Amino acid sequence: MAVGKEEVEEIVKARTDKREYRRIVLPNSLEVLLISDPDTDKCAASMDVSVGAFSDPDGLEGLAHFLEHMLFYASEKYPLEDSYSKYIIEHGGRTNAYTSSEHTNYYFDINADAFEEALDRFAQFFINPLMSADATMREIKAVDSENQKNLLSDGWRMNQLQKHLSAADHPYHKFSTGNWDTLEVRPKAKGLDTRSELIKFYEEYYSANVMHLVIYGKENLDKIQGLVEDKFKEIRNIDRNCLRFAGEPCTSEHLQILVRAVPIKEGHALRVVWPITPQIHHYKEGPCMYLSHLIGHEGEGSLYSILKTLGWATGLSAGEGDSSLDFSFFRVDIVLTDAGHEHMQDIVGLLFKYISLLQQSGICKWIFDELSAVCETKFHYQDKIQPINYVVSISPNMQKYPPKDWLVRSSLPSNFSTDIIQMVLNKLSPNNVR
Ligand SMILES: [Zn+2]
Repeated sequence: MAVGKEEVEEIVKARTDKREYRRIVLPNSLEVLLISDPDTDKCAASMDVSVGAFSDPDGLEGLAHFLEHMLFYASEKYPLEDSYSKYIIEHGGRTNAYTSSEHTNYYFDINADAFEEALDRFAQFFINPLMSADATMREIKAVDSENQKNLLSDGWRMNQLQKHLSAADHPYHKFSTGNWDTLEVRPKAKGLDTRSELIKFYEEYYSANVMHLVIYGKENLDKIQGLVEDKFKEIRNIDRNCLRFAGEPCTSEHLQILVRAVPIKEGHALRVVWPITPQIHHYKEGPCMYLSHLIGHEGEGSLYSILKTLGWATGLSAGEGDSSLDFSFFRVDIVLTDAGHEHMQDIVGLLFKYISLLQQSGICKWIFDELSAVCETKFHYQDKIQPINYVVSISPNMQKYPPKDWLVRSSLPSNFSTDIIQMVLNKLSPNNVR
């Protein structure tokens, strides 16, 4: 998007929100959201790069994640290893990063008086990272130990199991964290040098035109803008294309399957999943919000209240999860009691009975209106969250939503459409489930 090419509508914010917002685009095409909050003690920044584990080369699973670790380490301007993290901590801040399927996100917060230098150190990751040979081995080990830790987490295990039981030629299938085997042993056996592959990956995918930055400062917008222009203008832009991953991760052979897994923690859980059209394409119609509002309802007459009365469940949630622009899933997660575990099939039966009741009773405008009103109140009277959490909630979504909805995103369904809700509801069928 170029400045001046289109009239950008004003960014919609909560009625109670006194902060000021401004969207700018630097000459290198870096798109930035500036937030000015004179009342804040902490300033924060989050940089989202639109590339993640889906782009890992075959045989080098975890490369995007490994790169995230390496950038954090040092830059040519600040070559002392870990000096960035030390600087942040010494000035009352925190720093972190994550790599998901299609994004890598770097973020921090810090005391307001140390923000300018922190931003300079942060910007240098994206301008001239060091990626030194000597940090390579250590960081592969750090990635490996992170994976060892994930192996003990039921959440990670279940996610990987779900990915594993999907189409082998879809990137969703891949292992994304990386470990000693995928980043050291196997590349070596094939004669590949992990560090040169890392640099290649960085050069191919890190470009200002696919980065989105959110800056949360104490000064006024003009001052923050000057600072951002100065610090980030040198990020290289190669006008890289937006990555898309066509195709469905679940084909017929991956549906209508039942998988039993033994958890590490005690307890039982049931997850029912259907592939659906991503809600992002209809976020004003909010089909998944409508359905999760009903299926996840906890009041009288709800599915959950019946399961609870029977002594079979202690929790239930429903909604869209694991979504991208090209595919998505609707999930129902139920926390089962021991008795519930014995009645797993009955519970699945009740869930489908409830869904067929929704089919028969049709999509109701009054339910949508009620949901829409609740969402309005929630959005406009939301509490302020910590700047670091705020910036990281916005930056990965800037590519998906138009600027006016950067803060609102999917949280305000406003267009009632029977057809669109019905389209998703039709997907929640027994032959599309797993
Ligand atoms: Zn990591």
